[in-house]
Amino acid sequence: MKYKRILLKLSGEALAGDQGYGITPEVLGQFADEVKELNELGIEVAVVIGGGNIHRGVAGSTKGMDRTTSDHMGMLATVINALALQDSLERKGVYTRVLSAIKMQEICESYIRRRAMRHLEKGRVVIFAAGTGNPYFTTDTTAALRANEIDADIIMKATKVDGIYDKDPVVHKDAVKFDELKYIDVLNRGIKVMDSAAISLCMDNNIEIRVFNTFEKGNIKRVVMGEDIGTKVVK
Ligand code: UDP
Repeated sequence: MKYKRILLKLSGEALAGDQGYGITPEVLGQFADEVKELNELGIEVAVVIGGGNIHRGVAGSTKGMDRTTSDHMGMLATVINALALQDSLERKGVYTRVLSAIKMQEICESYIRRRAMRHLEKGRVVIFAAGTGNPYFTTDTTAALRANEIDADIIMKATKVDGIYDKDPVVHKDAVKFDELKYIDVLNRGIKVMDSAAISLCMDNNIEIRVFNTFEKGNIKRVVMGEDIGTKVVK
């Protein structure tokens, strides 16, 4: 195995599937199956889950909402998704813990770094909820932050495309896929794979980001085993 401790970033949008809103049980179940397989191989898996399938802070604020309130709603949305993923994983027999950056003691544990590490060492899948706990951030930045905190070997960004392209491959037939990109190139080219705060954090701390089709069966395992699929973002 090339990577022992991984951080998977799953966006809320991915969870919505084709319906565009809410949670699609098939997508959730498929993702949980992949995580279960990794867990059984002894790989320590942490997941940062987004909330865009329910609420996005910016979307609320463009309609006149107070941005901070709207971001709080977004963070709560990530907790809903985290609980859904926890339920799906536990029904498949995987032990999990949801750790929230906003205290919700009746529902889940609060995020404490040492506790997160301990859960991972014990073979539990850790799901980070409520983002960083602060407005004006995203769950991409949360992924970069938590990956650094728990000393993860890699951030895997769950997408439905097979890597990063120079332009949108759905619109442009001549789009070219990158096998490898430098963090600075992602920033300079304005590639919208993760927001710039997340990329900068990874760049400063030299943590690999891998973008690949996470929803193709067995792909996450392939990357963990060292196969070079998708696009690597490195120093
Ligand atoms: N959010 C926030 N602080 C954080 C993480 C998330 O305020 O540290 C809010 C923000 O409003 C964001 C929403 O939660 O729009 C959902 O997260 P995100 O947009 O990153 O979800 P994804 O795009 O991954 O579905």
